[in-house]
Amino acid sequence: MSPLDLGPISAPPNALADSLGRVVRYLRLSVTDRCDLRCTYCMAEHMTFLPKAEVLSLEELDRVATAFVGLGTRKLRITGGEPLVRKDVLWLFERLSRHLASGALDEITLTTNGTQLAQHAAALAGLGVKRINVSLDSLDAGVFRRLTRGGDLAKVLAGVDAAQAAGLAVKINAVALAHDNAAELPALIAWAHGRGMDATLIETMPMGEVEADRTDQYLSLTDLKRTLSSFWTLTDLPLTPSLKGIGGPARYVRVAETGGRLGFITPLSHNFCESCNRVRLTCTGTLHTCLGREDAADLRAILRGGGNETDLQDAIRASVWAKPAGHDFQIGRDLAPAVARHMSSTGG
Ligand code: SAM
Ligand code: SF4
Repeated sequence: MSPLDLGPISAPPNALADSLGRVVRYLRLSVTDRCDLRCTYCMAEHMTFLPKAEVLSLEELDRVATAFVGLGTRKLRITGGEPLVRKDVLWLFERLSRHLASGALDEITLTTNGTQLAQHAAALAGLGVKRINVSLDSLDAGVFRRLTRGGDLAKVLAGVDAAQAAGLAVKINAVALAHDNAAELPALIAWAHGRGMDATLIETMPMGEVEADRTDQYLSLTDLKRTLSSFWTLTDLPLTPSLKGIGGPARYVRVAETGGRLGFITPLSHNFCESCNRVRLTCTGTLHTCLGREDAADLRAILRGGGNETDLQDAIRASVWAKPAGHDFQIGRDLAPAVARHMSSTGG
């Protein structure tokens, strides 16, 4: 079967689909591998960042994102590294907002650590961003500083305030860590819900070498959910299209006592590959169709080799067609990371 012969798939004829019938409508676009924090589960303490020449320019990021939009991508998430440390990143949001105006895109969102949000929240809202994810693993300034190797919690909280004041819907993402924040998670969730924000918990994934021992920090969300159920009433929420929009691979519950929604992203204890609708582009233009596999297509070579939009789209189609069925993340003391690249370079 050729890449363009989509077989028995109930998708529009021009849809970007893989050989298993999954339709890809969601691109996560990493705009930098750099970051102002060094979260212990994400980065090594002394990271070597990419030379600037290797990173796509903002114009190149716009071109490649636009090629995806031409192939039916409906949702774009800007991520990194820390996207808001990329110089002039608002220019990219402004350029991409034309696809919102034309109706080609449903949504442009952002995943951020929040440290620069206070400066940028109002502008982002003005450019059509409606909701963002803020990653925040602890409300204890000391724990936060240790986990991020030097981060200032007050800046993130000011960022969350500014985002809400600008009318952005904020979802708090927290990586569940057995020692660092397990005991604090109920308070973190209650805080988010008390401010009208959804919260999502994420299992730590084995990506890239870091100093921290992930076996030691791994906390099964299946177990955590059981613990939460011992004092909260959790009701499973059906996966409606709007929940798919916010949650992707997350499974959501309603917490009766707080009134808020809580998501669980469980790549290890329960993987979600069968419904995966997303792909990721690194800031160097490498397309990964699976977070946990080494598959990759070099779109930068096409961008910089004089390729046009059709060339880009052909490469994207071929790569998506070959999207792996799923990943096989496992955490174990003797196991190497499933993939050598860090989440920060893949675009988490
Ligand atoms: N800097 C931004 C932030 O922290 O939100 C965006 C990039 S960051 C790589 C995206 C998300 O990936 C964050 O929520 C972070 O907690 C998560 N993350 C990073 N490394 C991870 C890992 N090894 N396992 C699970 N989640 C991870
Ligand atoms: Fe930076 Fe985000 Fe990675 Fe933390 S999780 S080091 S904020 S890229």
